[in-house]
Amino acid sequence: MAKKVLVLGELRDGSLRNVSFEAIAAGKKIAEGGEVAAVLIGDSIKSQADAMIHYGADRVIVVEDEQLKHYTPDGFSQAFMAVCNEEIPDAIVFGHTSLGKDLSPKIASKLNTGLVSDVTDIEEGDDGFVFTRPIYSGKAFEKKVIIDGITFITVRPNNIEPLEKDESRSGEVQSIAAEIKDLRTIVKEVITKASEGVDLSEAKVIVAGGRGVKSAEGFEPLKELAEVLGGAVGASRGACDADYCDYSLQIGQTGKVVTPDLYIACGISGAIQHLAGMSNSKVIVAINKDPEANIFNVADYGIVGDLFEAVPLLTEEFRKL
Ligand code: FAD
Repeated sequence: MAKKVLVLGELRDGSLRNVSFEAIAAGKKIAEGGEVAAVLIGDSIKSQADAMIHYGADRVIVVEDEQLKHYTPDGFSQAFMAVCNEEIPDAIVFGHTSLGKDLSPKIASKLNTGLVSDVTDIEEGDDGFVFTRPIYSGKAFEKKVIIDGITFITVRPNNIEPLEKDESRSGEVQSIAAEIKDLRTIVKEVITKASEGVDLSEAKVIVAGGRGVKSAEGFEPLKELAEVLGGAVGASRGACDADYCDYSLQIGQTGKVVTPDLYIACGISGAIQHLAGMSNSKVIVAINKDPEANIFNVADYGIVGDLFEAVPLLTEEFRKL
């Protein structure tokens, strides 16, 4: 049965995040030939609507208000609920990002519906769509079928292939007025750390360092390799605790969960808490001088050796390509 699906487009630093396009692809699947309407919330963001259409949205609904310039749970939920009340969707898709993780339960409770979060795959089953999601820190997967109410999911970045961008796609862009009031949080200023290069949670290639990197300077060869591969640098908590790098780079159970195409773990032992954040990467390469290191149990390719020899060699070879 054709469904009406609402997909939240998420902006960072004024640009749409890739996960927005992945959410459209998920929405298309669930819509079963119905309509996918993208929702953009913010201040002066209408210019982003075309990109959502080029990636497959049939229509874009824009909610603009100067109080929505920065994300607040109150403001965004009021805006999104205004759209829901007007549209009465059959399904909703958000990205499983910090914003999506924060906002989706709030919206689900307001709509009095369930939520399947952190979806990594969608298949058609006999009783409806089957949503796959990791459980027990990625050690197992469960499959969920929604039998009643609104189909509400969040999709893990880098798992659902976005549709091919097609600038000839067209669609209506409309604005909805939402009454944004009584906000309990007002963001006055956002101070961001200067971040280098590619966003870790959406990177296709990650070169991660652990305590084996031994110092902040030890991360330099990893940064070079990441740059050559157009990727991002990540780290284990061991490396962050030792002050070799910032906690914003931490991957794992208490850090970021990543699913790049290629994950190169350098001097990381492979503690279960680290694996929870990266074991679903498509290809894992481990470099460790200890042949018994647990990281080799999840690695597709392993280099037993000194990372300070192996990493520059890899950089040199990749530079030639
Ligand atoms: P180590 O375990 O010390 O491993 C270093 C590795 O480097 C060793 O295997 C060694 O053989 C190798 N090595 C050394 N020198 C070289 C060299 N020159 N060349 C090649 N290899 C070399 N950890 C996370 O990563 N992320 C989390 O989110 C996280 N959350 C946690 C939550 C809780 C509640 C707890 C209790 C722990 C958590 N941890 C987390 C910590 C985790 O248990 C490990 O302590 C941590 O992952 C170890 O980091 P490491 O692999 O860098 O260091």
